[in-house]
Amino acid sequence: MKDTHKHQGLRNQLVKTIEEKGILDKNVLTAISNVPRHLFMDSGFVDFAYQDKAFPIAADQTISQPYTVAFQTELLQVKSNHEILEIGTGSGYQTAVLLEMGAKVYTIERQKELFKKTKLFLPKIGYNPKKIIFGDGYKGLPENAPFDGIIVTAGAPFVPNPLLAQLKIGGRLVIPVGDDVQTMTLFIRTSEKDFEKHELGKFRFVPMLKKRS
Ligand code: SAH
Repeated sequence: MKDTHKHQGLRNQLVKTIEEKGILDKNVLTAISNVPRHLFMDSGFVDFAYQDKAFPIAADQTISQPYTVAFQTELLQVKSNHEILEIGTGSGYQTAVLLEMGAKVYTIERQKELFKKTKLFLPKIGYNPKKIIFGDGYKGLPENAPFDGIIVTAGAPFVPNPLLAQLKIGGRLVIPVGDDVQTMTLFIRTSEKDFEKHELGKFRFVPMLKKRS
């Protein structure tokens, strides 16, 4: 499947919708307008790719709603060359948005099937994360820490300490915390020991799971 003018037109509409919902960061909007989301969805669902909705991908997981992707990305304040860790690679869509913004991305997925699929797929369409790892997001990625930003794209029952510990001073952790409904939470590391915490509204994610499968 290709990316066409028609897809670009649909993406421009999507960007408008997201902007109207309150996303202001031009770099985020440009990234959303550049990533061909329809290529991240199984062919039967392509017609839905540019609606502002979450959608099923493989292994009972979902590709996040574009507004949610934009909201989390805006909170991260990504700059070119930032080192970003993503927990929950899934379809790779959020990864692609971060790469569009010039970030160096490390991403962890715990479902083998999805991991394999996305690891092959992203480079095929020109997106090259620094690392795509099959592993446990609760542990973060100590060998590449510290990070400018960490983004968790599954609902976390609690805030894993290793993720806070792997932030640079000034770094940001964006994590939806909660069981059935999650509160989008932003932590900013202000010193070795101190973190600022902000709560930014309710969202619904698939749960962050404990064991690899
Ligand atoms: N960022 C993805 C969203 C996928 S949904 C996208 O843009 O498509 C959340 C993903 O988190 C799922 O793929 C799920 O398998 C993964 N996940 C759940 N628990 C995890 C864990 N402990 N470590 C890493 N990934 C996890």
